[in-house]
Formats: sequence, structure tokens, C-alpha cells
Amino acid sequence: MKLEELKLDVDYFEFDETLYQKLKPQALNNPHLISYSKAACDLINLDYDDCQTDDFVNFVNGEKVLEGSTPYSMAYAGHQFGYFVPQLGDGRAINLGSINHWHLQTKGSGLTRYSRQGDGKAVLRSSIREFIISEAMDALGIPTTRALALIGSSHKVYRSYGEVETAAIVMRLSPSWIRIGTFEFFSRTKNSKDNLKQLANYVIKQSYPNLKDEQNKYEMMYFNLVDKTAKLVAQWQAYGFMHGVMNTDNMSMAGLTIDYGPFAFMDYFEKHCICNHTDEQGRYSYNNQAYIAQLNLEVLARSLDQICDIEKLMSYLDTFMSQEQKAYLEIMNKRLGLDESLSSDLNIDLFVELLSSLESSKCDYNCFFYELTKLRSLDNISSILNMCIFQEPIKKWFENYKNLIKKQNQDFTNMKKLMREVNPKYIIKNYMLQEAIEDAKNGNFKLVNDLLKIAQNPFLEHKDFERYSKPTPIEFSNLRLSCSS
Ligand code: AMP
Ligand code: MG
Repeated sequence: MKLEELKLDVDYFEFDETLYQKLKPQALNNPHLISYSKAACDLINLDYDDCQTDDFVNFVNGEKVLEGSTPYSMAYAGHQFGYFVPQLGDGRAINLGSINHWHLQTKGSGLTRYSRQGDGKAVLRSSIREFIISEAMDALGIPTTRALALIGSSHKVYRSYGEVETAAIVMRLSPSWIRIGTFEFFSRTKNSKDNLKQLANYVIKQSYPNLKDEQNKYEMMYFNLVDKTAKLVAQWQAYGFMHGVMNTDNMSMAGLTIDYGPFAFMDYFEKHCICNHTDEQGRYSYNNQAYIAQLNLEVLARSLDQICDIEKLMSYLDTFMSQEQKAYLEIMNKRLGLDESLSSDLNIDLFVELLSSLESSKCDYNCFFYELTKLRSLDNISSILNMCIFQEPIKKWFENYKNLIKKQNQDFTNMKKLMREVNPKYIIKNYMLQEAIEDAKNGNFKLVNDLLKIAQNPFLEHKDFERYSKPTPIEFSNLRLSCSS
């Protein structure tokens, strides 16, 4: 469909008007298209050609309003680094309405009622990061919000002392923008019980439609979210993904990864890796992600107290860790080509040893799995040893791996078939994004577009980018990024 033909549907104004704000997006100066995702266009049936028009740029910039669209921002609350903040909300994101159940939102569209001390803008570097990683996560099969387009501008923004940056806008798509923090906000409003019921019905409509007629539908919504979040975090863990800011306002009620800030795909393996520079205590470290997700779900349970039996919610939450572990083991078995049904206890020992060997070898986590998938035989593992700074630990681990395979009577060639499905050649690391950002700051957007292609096709060959399939240079490994975006 042509851009002109798209019709949006807004369904949020059924809520009390104190829970959102209708407003006009603030346009950026001299907007220009940097990139767009064809895969995301398909979600809303938008013609690719139309993305290259001025009209499309004006649409992302908030100047062109499509039929049926009434822009608005939502109120929410949240626990940020463990502390409750009663009034948050879309401080720079503006919702436009939905097409095909995908809710369109622009991030960086100016001040809203919820901007607090912020300027309502998003800088180019963080917008490039969110744009590319959204599509990368989807290509890996990790549930996520999506990104349709990225525009840049000459609009100046100031984040760190002495540095002038330019503003950008990402158009994001999601089946739902409701967060745990939205429930926290609604649970403290004047007609909280009615508002909570209305919000829960809304979430069920968006994300759990099969529960619509269930008697205990609010409780079941919670159970479903626990299941989804456990699977989501298991995928993060198995691929070494760190969200970086797992505040309750950044946790989706649809069980998706949302709000990409100082995230990272881990370079060399480090159990207690911290990717967020602000997170000095490591609250959101790699190893803590499952505990934090569980804690956030506990916050949600307390917010649902008025409309659910909280005892039931809490006792279901007790299944979270075992669900997360089960889902994690399933992926890890595949990543090593092991048959889960054969001898899973032994496999678990092998994973634990693998992680500690990778850590002491200083081995690039995702490259390890890719190189394993490429090995001709287990008798020559030099390609993997050459990636390691210290080789002994991983050498020792391979002995155990070989023994287990022998014991289970497995064939390495067959095992590789399983591995190929889950071990991509390319994982988008922070240093790659940083290279694209440096070029973009100089007005060259080729690498942003190349990275998008790699992100969307991580299992394919990308001839000109062999170097991105290799371990991250150690000087760029596991760096911490700042939250300021
Ligand atoms: P985050 O941790 O990035 O998800 O942001 C936390 C809260 O701060 C959200 O309510 C955001 O809308 C808001 N926020 C972040 N950056 C800005 C900004 N530059 N201007 C206004 N609000 C912002
Ligand atoms: Mg957020």
C-alpha cells in the first residue's frame, strides 16, 4: 500500500484522560532519511518505494499525520534501579495509532507532559543503536519491538558537557506498548480498580486474545506473561544479550524486549558482565537478569492485587526460575548440538564448565559457537584455540565434550545440523554499532544500512564483512556504555 492509503486506528482514548496526553509531535529541523527496514514495512503492508519519499520523512518527523491518527503519549510509573518513581511516561515517545495490530510510535518527537527534565529528543547514536538492534533481535528469533525507519536532522542536542550532537527519530512498531510500569501507575490512580481492569482487558485484547472469555482472565494474563518473560530472558542469556536497564518501565506486558539503551551482546564471556556504565553495582549484570525479571514480575503481582488473588500470582511466579532454566538449557543444548533427551544432567555440567572455560580463556562468546559449527572434526580445534587468549581451559573442556559425545554415541556431522540453526555467523556487537555511528556523525550512512542487512540476515554470508564474524578486538570488548541518549 502507498503511505497515503495507510489508515491508523487509535484505541487508547477509552481510558480516563488523566492517563495519557494528546499532543502534537515536535518536528526536527532538516530531517532526512537514514534507513528503513523492508521487513518492518511488510508488517504494515507499506510499499518500500514510498519510504524514499519526502512524505515518508515528514510522516516519521511528525509533520504528516495519516488518516485516523491522533498522536498521544502514555503515562506510566516504574521502579528504576529498585526505587519507585510514581510519575514517568512517554517523555519523548509519541504514539500514532495502529495498523495490522502494530502500534506505531516515534521516539525523539519532542516534549510531552512526561518529559520531566528531559528535552524530548533522542540523539543520533542511540537511535542508530535501537534501529539496528531491534531488527537484529527479531532475526535471531528473540521477541522484540521493531523498527520501521530512522531519520536524522540538523537539530542540535546536548548530552555531555562540551559535546554537540544531532537529534534523530526512530519509528518503532510493537503489538503493545504497555509496560509493567503502566500497571504500577494505574494501580495508584483515583479509580484504580476500574482502571486496572480496563488496562488488563486492553492488554488481553492486544497480547493474550485467547484469554478474553476466561473466568480468571487477569490471573491468566499474569501467568502467560511469566511464561513469556522466562522464555525471553532464557534467549537473552543463551545469546549473551544484556538489556542494561531492566527497570519495570522497560519491561513489556507482551514479553518483548523493549527500550534499547546501553544494551550489549557480550563480546568475550564474562559471567558478571555489566554493560551499563551507570550501573556501578551491577544490578542489571548478565548474571542477574533472570533474578531481576522475577523481581519485576513480583512488582507487577503487587500492582494487580486489587483485581487478582495475589497468592495465586506469587505461587505461579515460583515457577519462573525453573521455566527460565528449562528454556535456557533447550537453546544451549542446540547451540552445542546435543540431544537434550539423552543425558541432560551431564549436559548441564558441560555448560557450566564451558562458561567458566570461556571466561578464563577470554574467548568471544558467540564466535565460539559459530566456530564450533564450522569445525570439520573435533580432532582439530585450532580455529577455536586461536580465538582464545588462554587456550588451556578450553582445550580441557573439549576433552569433556568429546567424551560426552562418545558416550552418547553422537555423530558430530549430524550435531552440526542442529547447531547451524541457532549459531549465527554474525552478532551485532557494540563496536560495530560504534563504527556505524562514527561514520554517520560524518554524514556517511552506508555502514548503518550495511549493518542493518547483516542484522536482518545473521546466518547468511556477507562477503565484505568477514571481519565482523571474527572475535571483537579485545580493546573494544565488554565496554560499558552510558545511559545518556
Ligand atoms: P529509559 O530508561 O531510557 O527508558 O527512560 C526512562 C524515562 O525517562 C522514560 O519515561 C523516558 O520517556 C524518559 N526520558 C528519557 N530520555 C528523555 C529525554 N531526552 N527527554 C524526555 N524524557 C526522557
Ligand atoms: Mg524506557
